[in-house]
Amino acid sequence: MKEVATHCPYCALQCGLMLRERPGGVEVGPRDFPTNRGGLCQKGWTAAQLLDHPDRLTAPLIGGQPATWEDAYSLIIERVLDIQRRHSNDAIAVFGGGGLTNEKVYSLGKFARVALGTRHIDYNGRFCMSSAAAAANKTFGLDRGLPFPLADLSGADTLLLVGANVAETMPPFARYLVEQKAKGGTLIVVDPRATATARGATLHLQPTPGTDLALALGLLHIAVAEGLIDGSYVDDRTTGWEGVRASVAGYWPARVERITGVPVSDLEFTARALSRGKANRAIILTARGAEQHSKGVDTVIAFINLALALGLPGRPGSGFGTLTGQGNGQGGREHGQKADQLPGYRSIDDPAARAHVASVWGVEPDTIPGAGISAYEMLNILGTQIKGLMVFGSNPAVSAPNTRHIKERLRSLDFLVVCDFVLSETAALADVVLPVAQWAEEDGTMTNLEGRVIRRRALRKPPPGIGTDLAVLAELGARLSQSNGESGLSRHAAYAADVPRGKPPSQGVRFDSDPHAVFEELRRATAGGAADYGGVTWERVDAEDGVFWPCPTADRAGTPRLFETSFPTPDGRARMLAVEHRPVAEEVDDDFPLYLTTGRVLSQYQSGAQTRRILQGEVFVEMHPDLASRMGFAEGAPVRVISRRGEVLAPARLSETIRPDTVFAPFHYPGVNDLTNPALDPTSRMPEFKVCAVRLEPA
Ligand code: SF4
Repeated sequence: MKEVATHCPYCALQCGLMLRERPGGVEVGPRDFPTNRGGLCQKGWTAAQLLDHPDRLTAPLIGGQPATWEDAYSLIIERVLDIQRRHSNDAIAVFGGGGLTNEKVYSLGKFARVALGTRHIDYNGRFCMSSAAAAANKTFGLDRGLPFPLADLSGADTLLLVGANVAETMPPFARYLVEQKAKGGTLIVVDPRATATARGATLHLQPTPGTDLALALGLLHIAVAEGLIDGSYVDDRTTGWEGVRASVAGYWPARVERITGVPVSDLEFTARALSRGKANRAIILTARGAEQHSKGVDTVIAFINLALALGLPGRPGSGFGTLTGQGNGQGGREHGQKADQLPGYRSIDDPAARAHVASVWGVEPDTIPGAGISAYEMLNILGTQIKGLMVFGSNPAVSAPNTRHIKERLRSLDFLVVCDFVLSETAALADVVLPVAQWAEEDGTMTNLEGRVIRRRALRKPPPGIGTDLAVLAELGARLSQSNGESGLSRHAAYAADVPRGKPPSQGVRFDSDPHAVFEELRRATAGGAADYGGVTWERVDAEDGVFWPCPTADRAGTPRLFETSFPTPDGRARMLAVEHRPVAEEVDDDFPLYLTTGRVLSQYQSGAQTRRILQGEVFVEMHPDLASRMGFAEGAPVRVISRRGEVLAPARLSETIRPDTVFAPFHYPGVNDLTNPALDPTSRMPEFKVCAVRLEPA
């Protein structure tokens, strides 16, 4: 009976599990991995059910009809070349996913820039972690979601969790919170809803949606006023404190209570709990609730300022971190599928970075295209500047904001290709669908929310007729490279204006379909970068419980804890940056008098393309009983939730755990993101998923 030790395919906790081939199908069993210690949630326990599911795609589809791989590949090459000949290299775009393995992410970025020669590549992680990543890069000089191992959480005297409902999104994580409280720790949860996580907290702060930034500024104001600042840490390890101190002067407690709705006494309790002296181990964590806003970067910066002022980052047992959501949300943003990045978390605008990566890819540096645009901005020009799109591991027809508009854009394309293992809502719109392997049928590496590189192991081969993402990229890469000379297209002459079109094509550039070989190339490409995998060998990841990056050489241990003595900035100090509260992009008014906030439920993962086929569940709109009675809605009554962008029909679910001015809907279901606001953060280009104005009407 074959069995392998691998990891759950879903969230960034990447719980270890055992997979066994049984006569009736594949069985999931527990595994004692350091992060989940045998625990799994219902998504993990049931993940194998999709392997033999009847919805599984078993052959390529052209125009919705089964086709051969040869016909599918030939059509893709013909249409891609035609579009690029008629328009430009940039008329073809690539959209990736935060659940793809490191090897796929790496190959996808290389495929876009070298084989297609397009600058247009971005991915759904832009909708997930981009605000936290931008804030960490600006302040710490490095973005690794948790700069310490998960195990530190249970030892914290005080834990402030902002905008995360881990009891539903990653239940095995919640054990750390239970342990932390059991040891006498103080757990404070910030959330507009009294979620299962918030209900287990010592104190629940329930701010008005979109006011977390003011909350953070208010907490720092109190810390200053009460003399709680760690002056020697601020002097020795940070810059910018005077400006930050001046900026929080205007956020006195009564004002912050008016903005956020959080009582002054709760604000004071929180500030004091975080700063009970150097012996106090305190950790601040943010997640999507704080980050998915048009001011998400500034909100995270405000909490980082608070953590720095209290001397937490790098202090043993203390720190600041952000919780990554998607399975490879961390690795997914390190290896080049982001519009402005090259592998190793390198900037695509940095000449030295371009030269290094070009040498690994075997191309000239000036032939790598420049930075593209962010996910929503890219989707928004489908059908106009972008005529063809290739989607890997993503379902933007459900997960993007303002999806009614985005589906129109997808329909307006000349050519849409989707690689997936089921007919997702996006795949259903595609001209060509390529069926690819699932997690239990492939080897690879993922990087979990701690920055720990781990091994995904195949239990079985993909069923006949099904390819892998890497094989698709290798085949298309080879065919496009060969076709360069014939087509007269220069595949990678878009970066510098003075590079002549028609520069020699990328003959000889290799796209490998073997994940181990791709990982070896990834190691070379990331060596010397911020996310340095140079010393993370396949064998080490196999033999150890994962390796924490950065790990420059194979003879050195990884780096479980960052920032202990300095920050990776030019002067070694963290940068404190003054930020100001500002209103949400779309305030409530007479026509749309309620806030809508969206989020996750226990049984579903992301756009639900996988979990909706396995686990029961349906869309609902959660509202306070007082609001329901005012509007005349009983439990289960059909309700139309209407925003300026669309509407969704959902049964009412009454709950006293939500503010009476706010309604909640889970975004795993088609239609919910028809409502959400695509207002973007100016830095991260994160859409404002977490708050928009709606009204309710009887159906
Ligand atoms: Fe673990 Fe997340 Fe999978 Fe649940 S979904 S089993 S928490 S990795």
